[in-house]
Amino acid sequence: MPQNIRYNNMHSYRNLVAGVDTRIPLDNGSYTTGINFDNAATTPPFLSVINEVDSFIPWYSSVHRGKGYKSVVSTNLYEEGRNTIKDFVKADRDNDTVVYTKNTTEAINILACILSQQKNGRDVVLSTWMEHAANDLPWRDKFTVDYIETDDYGRLSMNNLEDKLKKYKDKVRLVTVTGASNVTGYLNDINTIAELAHRHGAEIHVDGAQLVPHLPVEMKPYRTASYIDYMSFSAHKMYAPYGSGALIGPKSAFEKGLPYCQGGSAISLVTHNKIWWEEPPHKDEAGTPNLLGIAAMLSAIKALTSLGMDNIFNHEAALLQYAYEKMKSIPGITFYSHPEIQETIGVIPFNVEGVHHSLMSAILSYEAGIAVRNGFFCAHPYCERLLGYSAQDMEDMMKDPNSIFPGIVRASFGIYNGFYEIDRFIACLNQIVLNKK
Ligand code: PLP
Repeated sequence: MPQNIRYNNMHSYRNLVAGVDTRIPLDNGSYTTGINFDNAATTPPFLSVINEVDSFIPWYSSVHRGKGYKSVVSTNLYEEGRNTIKDFVKADRDNDTVVYTKNTTEAINILACILSQQKNGRDVVLSTWMEHAANDLPWRDKFTVDYIETDDYGRLSMNNLEDKLKKYKDKVRLVTVTGASNVTGYLNDINTIAELAHRHGAEIHVDGAQLVPHLPVEMKPYRTASYIDYMSFSAHKMYAPYGSGALIGPKSAFEKGLPYCQGGSAISLVTHNKIWWEEPPHKDEAGTPNLLGIAAMLSAIKALTSLGMDNIFNHEAALLQYAYEKMKSIPGITFYSHPEIQETIGVIPFNVEGVHHSLMSAILSYEAGIAVRNGFFCAHPYCERLLGYSAQDMEDMMKDPNSIFPGIVRASFGIYNGFYEIDRFIACLNQIVLNKK
């Protein structure tokens, strides 16, 4: 993990992204410059991404389906992009493959489909209590799923992971874990988890949606057992628009079984009663791809790499610690992550006593032009736990038509956010508290 966080790092990355100076209408009829602290949901695009995609638009054409010049340009971009992605996450250029997907959710559904056809006598998947629904639900109907516990702070319990690996002996097919939580921001020690999983004959998948935009990732550390077998991520959380993502893993795993999605591009020959599937990764890429989305993702990766993932981590860590320091003094504030924990991305989950989470985010938006998110962030079991509700409590609330659901407010930072934006955010939180009575 990058070290030496500099608190006086006032370098501004603001000009890198589009739309930061957008005028936001307020409820009182005036306008303000918007602040986006909802980067864990989706980031704005890098200007370089917009420019690159813009200049590519006249050139896109069918991938793998034509000999025309534009088709060749498109096919080259598409194929060479796989190496850009492998290098970005330090995957193995020769033995790993990259399947283009529309997002992390699709990537994990593809992986679950593939691995469910190669159980090799192992029918248990170990997920965790901190997962986004994307890394929980796709496994449920295909494997016996058990969930690694979290500790009192909401961090993953490594002891419980070991206990579960021992309990299921040689039945665990996969440990699937998020690289960083989209609720608390906590980073999981994925390389140590990988080592443990491998020691028990299991593989590991890392949901990289909240990881790869924020710090350097190494899927294949040189000559160690701590390598990551599979990783998935989405472009829209890394400064490119919607619609593209990636699943990375060993080519050999993608050779077997039936693909999740079937159709053209995935086949090398079809007769009326037989199908010859393409080699990976094409076998899992049926249909016309979202080439512009892929071009955007590759451009964003180039921009992130040239910024330096260590610099990105350091800047966001400095923003996080600055915000925590200031927020601590707000009367009635509760944090759902621990401010002293350093192994985290720039996410602060909180509530202010007496202000419902929905109201808090509405006031921040309509009165101050500050975008945050509230609710359960698609990580329902984790949020329920952090708030102290049982599954039964939640079921009771679902049954009661008058329920007002609990939730959390989440501020999440990106590379382009500045310290003065946090000052405005804190000033607004203080105003909300003052006006509560
Ligand atoms: N995993 C994590 C940790 C996430 O935060 C998200 C999105 O918020 C996802 C998976 C799903 O990403 P997508 O909606 O792009 O598929």
